[in-house]
Amino acid sequence: MTARLLLATRNAKKLDELRRILVGSSVGDIEVLGLSDVDEFPEAPETGATFEENALAKAHDAAGATGLPTVADDSGLTVDALNGMPGVLSARWAGRHGDDRANLELVLDQLADTPDERRGAAFVCAAAFVVPDVEEVVVCGKWRGTLIRRPRGKHGFGYDPIFVPEGETRTSAELEPAEKDVASHRGRALRALLPHLRELSRRS
Ligand code: IMP
Repeated sequence: MTARLLLATRNAKKLDELRRILVGSSVGDIEVLGLSDVDEFPEAPETGATFEENALAKAHDAAGATGLPTVADDSGLTVDALNGMPGVLSARWAGRHGDDRANLELVLDQLADTPDERRGAAFVCAAAFVVPDVEEVVVCGKWRGTLIRRPRGKHGFGYDPIFVPEGETRTSAELEPAEKDVASHRGRALRALLPHLRELSRRS
């Protein structure tokens, strides 16, 4: 039987990414649903101090409300010269949730005097998997790179136009989506969940 898995997000790109990863691996038959496919429930604000805490809280909320095995992620950019910030505040660094351009401009302003050799950063993603009354696990994926001074590229979102991954000359906004999936923090975290998802499809 096909197992149903909820990815606790309304972001269509994240849903597509998880679907592509599942299709490309041999996990068995899993139907991936997003939050817009299930009845609405009150979504708590993200108040955790770490990506892991936020991902687990989101997965528990959604799994508790729907009874479905659930994956949730929390991600962001950690900048070496900013002592790991914006971190869990990445989505609202400039004050307003989800204003990608303002967030990126603020980081660029903050690093204006930081020399090239100290512009290291990493995208980090924690992915939690919760099966009500059965299992809970949280894993973390990291993608290191450096921050350039002027945005480049049209793909992706958030801080992608200023992030050049290690070993690349292009920004992550200049990579094709499939190239980003292979290397990215989210791809790494989601792939680390595959053994657990394989078990889920075996149990159903
Ligand atoms: P969330 O985990 O989807 O809430 O992402 C938090 C924030 O981190 C986003 O709003 C982006 O600013 C940033 N972020 C996370 N992943 C990426 C990425 O792959 N590229 C660019 N920015 C990202």
